[in-house]
Amino acid sequence: MPEFMRQLTLLIVEDDILNSEIVKTAFQEDGHIVNCAASLGECRDELEKNKPEVIILDRGLPDGDGFQLCLTLKKDPRFKAIPIVILTGRADVREKILGLRFGADDYLTKPFAIEELRARVGAVVRRVYGGAETAVSLCGITMDFKAITVTVKGRPLLLTNREFELLRVFMESPNNVFSRDSLIAAVWHNAVLTGSKVVDVTVMNLRRKLGGAGSPICAVRSLGYKFRSEG
Ligand code: CA
Repeated sequence: MPEFMRQLTLLIVEDDILNSEIVKTAFQEDGHIVNCAASLGECRDELEKNKPEVIILDRGLPDGDGFQLCLTLKKDPRFKAIPIVILTGRADVREKILGLRFGADDYLTKPFAIEELRARVGAVVRRVYGGAETAVSLCGITMDFKAITVTVKGRPLLLTNREFELLRVFMESPNNVFSRDSLIAAVWHNAVLTGSKVVDVTVMNLRRKLGGAGSPICAVRSLGYKFRSEG
């Protein structure tokens, strides 16, 4: 499990059993507790039994629309704080904006890479519950997440919020390859209109500010970026 993710209880609401199993297995392998529901009705029952910390919610369910459930939960004081990541087959921007208006915390279009879903769940968890670690130190760079400071070999560095969040994502999961989409999800949150160019520009600025210490941040051809802490 990535360092920033403590053990979570997740609820997957999805009627496509194969998809549900893939997601379930991936999060279980990361050490999380995963419960499943295949309809809105089952989801309501499950919510009464085990209160999840994150809900991964499909839109097209046999007894209704996931958006509707999202709206209901966000109005219910018992459940409104639980972050919801919507999964849907519909890719257009209006759909995404609608999902966010219905109170979803993030939105992912099928088919998606499990790595991206992980990154998005990680991002909403950190946003809603805060990170578990208070500091991380790698390759001469030290980040203090409480004081929101970065030092390179003891020398303080001034970063923008986005640069700080980007460096945090890299340093919390070194050697993990992040696609531009997953970085947009983790750093720019729900900015559905953010293009991938902004990722390249922010990485470039971050590397420039880090100087020689920025060399672990490298592009992985056609995939994205990673922070290389070994080899
Ligand atoms: Ca479905």
